[in-house]
Amino acid sequence: MPLIFFAAPTLWPEYRDLLPALLAEAGIAANVVTEAPDPAMVDYIIYAPSAPLQDFTPFTNCKAVLSLWAGVERIVGNATLTQPLCRMVDTGLTEGMVEWVVGHTLRHHLGMDRHIVNPAHVWDPTCPPLARERPVAMLGMGALGTACACALTALNFPVTGYSRTAKDIPGIPTTTDLRSALSGAEIVITLLPKTPETENMLNAESLSWLPRGAVILNPGRGPLIDDAALLAALDTGHVAHATLDVFRAEPLPQDHAFWSHPRVTVTPHIAADTRASGAAKVLVENIRRAQAGEPLLHLVDRGRGY
Ligand code: NAP
Repeated sequence: MPLIFFAAPTLWPEYRDLLPALLAEAGIAANVVTEAPDPAMVDYIIYAPSAPLQDFTPFTNCKAVLSLWAGVERIVGNATLTQPLCRMVDTGLTEGMVEWVVGHTLRHHLGMDRHIVNPAHVWDPTCPPLARERPVAMLGMGALGTACACALTALNFPVTGYSRTAKDIPGIPTTTDLRSALSGAEIVITLLPKTPETENMLNAESLSWLPRGAVILNPGRGPLIDDAALLAALDTGHVAHATLDVFRAEPLPQDHAFWSHPRVTVTPHIAADTRASGAAKVLVENIRRAQAGEPLLHLVDRGRGY
């Protein structure tokens, strides 16, 4: 009977009844615990960055570490972690991200702010362009970027996808060249993982490739953007607005310039949450696969860092 160590104490109430029920449904007799009396007995670890667990060395027989988060930058470089690491890809995360991205894209595309905050009661009948006239760049064409790109494409936005490796996605042109993705993009959405290669990908040089007045949405990770370069581009109006969900330091410090900048919207890392109802099914499926000797889902490539 596998011993499963659920290492994220604050999240445990959401999974306490659900996980054992789904494991039983899958025909897996397992013991799920939040304290491992003997780490050497643990078969699987369910992990979130909020967990105090940092040293994986004692878990000598652990078959896999299953992350509740999609982004694994806080654990992927942990030298004590030698077991296979799986990240979270589930429908709740994807749906949440699609809704956040579509909502904030439409806000900027339609110029909603002009009408929502209009204290002088200005009657400006200028119509926004159609979505088909608003080029979008999606930086990152993984699970979340692809879903968001498809949703925006369904609304007629011409989306160009950018990723590390070439893709063939019907209806969505893609590139591995950042400059060609950004050139002409009026709305840029960053859904890249944080790795040494992606850090500061949006910097003074790459921001200068955008047309004047472009808008940036960052639900990926804070370090993807050079903060100082972004603030400089916002001050000159080269970037018209940045809607940021993630930051180098979270919570965003009270004295950070993003809070008070008139061209920045801060959302508090709420773009997409892992929901227990979907995530527990993914965890159980991976445990089933590991027990059956089948390949694991959403395995992290340590070399790439995501
Ligand atoms: P994913 O499936 O691993 O996709 C990552 C994408 O980034 C892939 O298309 C990958 O290219 C591309 N990429 C990685 N390194 C690159 C590089 N150096 N240059 C160009 N492209 C690169 O990840 P995901 O599930 O879509 O999630 C993306 C990120 O969203 C997560 O890592 C996390 O940071 C963030 N996130 C945020 C929230 C929130 O609430 N704000 C919630 C969940 C996730 P290839 O396809 O060629 O490998």
